[in-house]
Amino acid sequence: MSTTIPTSLYDLTADQLADQLAAWGQPAFHAKQIRRWLYQQFVAHIDEMTDLSKTLRAQLSAHYALGRLIPVAEHFSSDGWTRKWLLRLPDGSEIETVLMEYDGIRRTACISSQAGCAMDCAFCATGQMGFVRNLRAGEIIEQVLWVARAMRHQSAVDRLSNVVFMGMGEPFANYNNVLEAIRRLTEPQSAGGFGLGARRITVSTVGIVPGIRRFAEEALQVNLAISLHAANDELRNQLVPLNKRYPLKDLALATREYIRKTNRRVSFEWALIDGVNDTVEQARLLVKFIRSIHDPQQEGRNMIHVNMIPLNPTAGYAGRATDRERARHFSAILAEAGIPNTIRVRRGIDIHAGCGQLKAAVSPDGEPAAMA
Ligand code: SAH
Repeated sequence: MSTTIPTSLYDLTADQLADQLAAWGQPAFHAKQIRRWLYQQFVAHIDEMTDLSKTLRAQLSAHYALGRLIPVAEHFSSDGWTRKWLLRLPDGSEIETVLMEYDGIRRTACISSQAGCAMDCAFCATGQMGFVRNLRAGEIIEQVLWVARAMRHQSAVDRLSNVVFMGMGEPFANYNNVLEAIRRLTEPQSAGGFGLGARRITVSTVGIVPGIRRFAEEALQVNLAISLHAANDELRNQLVPLNKRYPLKDLALATREYIRKTNRRVSFEWALIDGVNDTVEQARLLVKFIRSIHDPQQEGRNMIHVNMIPLNPTAGYAGRATDRERARHFSAILAEAGIPNTIRVRRGIDIHAGCGQLKAAVSPDGEPAAMA
């Protein structure tokens, strides 16, 4: 026996909501009212939409659901800057959503695009867990609203400033829903939308080449991060098995195309693993790899930034984090070659916030941060 799960109101586009209201014989202006409740007031229940008539609220409740994320666990890191939720979806699958606060300026939601992940990266906790399912656009959006609501309870003035797709899942393996979520989150507040600037969103991909090519065509101002972790195919095949399908040569071409088409910077993610990918040899190969991408037409501008983060240990992988000194040495080799790079601080380690995926990717202005 299967139970029918009602459609979430977050799954409706503005047009679909307008059509639904028309079908009920309700005036069109209610659409913006409802959208404001959803995307600006972050209500978790239809009954909280107090300026709608009882009839309309009853119609909405009969057909649509809200507030369907159930918190299974919530953790604060000991420094108080990271807050993580394990959230259960109506079908029982579970996802992680994190709020990371920095320097009193940035407040970043790290969200999941899938429950589990099929990419199987050796060191990643989600990869070790396997794939469950794609999230719907509404379920992606709802995580952002969840964090926004939690923040409002914390403080009336703080607003979410950034969103990164660095929770569970591979965004480009759920391309359409991720794109729809991005479009919806960036709808202007004047139209009842959430109003997040596209430059404040970062999508992180394991390196799905057709996804990168397609993303380049979207004409969005969204940031792209690519999880590189190794600069030769032999090592990358081990760490990121998808490399067997899209080897470094193809990834380099796609990245070059992306930069040329969008004129936007790309960041490469690099989880520093002691004795594995933090060697002088890997640093030199990385320099070579980046030089192979750099488009002569773009010369003079650094279009690629490297973000390093010491590995977050996970149960299914024996590797250890690179220590500070080795990390600095690795970073210095890149810097000498003129490649901007940042060593990131691991956040919320004590709450496994963890899975390694949760890290800073954007600076306050939404661009990858400048060299540390
Ligand atoms: N699937 C996407 C986004 C999710 S992971 C991707 O691969 O980019 C976000 C980032 O965290 C990726 O760069 C991923 O490689 C990294 N990551 C995963 N597990 C990690 C760990 N244990 N330590 C450090 N970084 C990790």
